[in-house]
Amino acid sequence: MRSIADPRSQPLFASGSCSLTGFAALVLVLLSACATSDDQGAGRSDDAPPAVSAAAADQTVGHVLEEIAPGVYFADAAGTGEILLASNAMVVVNRDDVLVVDSHITADAADSLIRAVRTITDKPIRYLVNSHFHFDHAHGNQSFSGLASDVQIVGHEYTRERMLTDVLAEPTYQTIGAPAAQEGIAMQLERQIDALDAEADAETRSSLQAQLVMLRRHIEALAEVVPTPPNLTLLDKLTLHRGDREIQLLHLGRGHTGGDVVVYLPAEKIAFTGDLFYAGAPYLGDGFADEFVDTLGRLAELDVDVFVPGHGPLVRDKAQIAFNQEYLRKYWRQVSDSHAAGRSVEEAIAELDLSGYEEFAAFQTNMPAVLELEVRRMYELLELR
Ligand SMILES: [Zn+2]
Repeated sequence: MRSIADPRSQPLFASGSCSLTGFAALVLVLLSACATSDDQGAGRSDDAPPAVSAAAADQTVGHVLEEIAPGVYFADAAGTGEILLASNAMVVVNRDDVLVVDSHITADAADSLIRAVRTITDKPIRYLVNSHFHFDHAHGNQSFSGLASDVQIVGHEYTRERMLTDVLAEPTYQTIGAPAAQEGIAMQLERQIDALDAEADAETRSSLQAQLVMLRRHIEALAEVVPTPPNLTLLDKLTLHRGDREIQLLHLGRGHTGGDVVVYLPAEKIAFTGDLFYAGAPYLGDGFADEFVDTLGRLAELDVDVFVPGHGPLVRDKAQIAFNQEYLRKYWRQVSDSHAAGRSVEEAIAELDLSGYEEFAAFQTNMPAVLELEVRRMYELLELR
């Protein structure tokens, strides 16, 4: 088993298990966390029930649901490779109803999640929780608001505020998630396929073609996105009691965004952490890098056996939190020093040394546009001081 204390260890965003390379791989990995195929089931205990393959029950469903506690299912972003899901979700089946955490990246992906839920229960979906406002976690909301079961969409007040602004125009979406950005990846995929010589193995060719089909479907779905904000908001904490299940929605402080919500099941010792915590470097372009370490400290205080992250495989080792904190401290310290020295953002990026974190922070270190969004954001925070 790899050591998470070693920054060279295989991180969430390693692209080794994906057939794509370079830029296309990185963005698709971010969006679909395909690296999880390395780790799929790694966190599953021997006596855990087998995963429910929704696809087996319905060929149009792009989900595999893994029951990690009675009635609690992990919906892996890897899906079945037909629909770009982009982020993990969680499904909690209660005595009388169902709560879903995060809605994926499009209505198409969310519809698929809803169909997957229907393969495990006919109880009504009453709650959808948004871990934060980012497109890859909340742009499927419209599918839930359209259900007859009068779904409450729950999120932090900050999440609602951000989603009431023009989130389709904001820099993170424009740089990473918007149709133009995805079209660029599709074109790169097409070039990769065209460049394959006749002897290229059939598996590589069909894998790339399948990814292209998925991406083309995704780009079409992006045109249909109608940002749909939460209609029930919280600031610090909201507790739902559904039958005998307690579900705590906790804002532990600012970090990945200003409104990260952790969904905590105290009896099951499970926490869905969104992008506040996963086994890879968090995106900081909308973040509060200066407060992030303390927020993770509060996460570490919860009594949790299984963290369900927004991307990548389940995390069972709390030592991963300390590792993420160390990375954030190092990154923030360097950018702060550059700011104090009067360097420009461009100079700060040139000075930045994330060596040892190349794999852990592959999304950042391989994508200059992402790095620039992050450092620019940190400069904004520093200038507010
Ligand atoms: Zn995010």
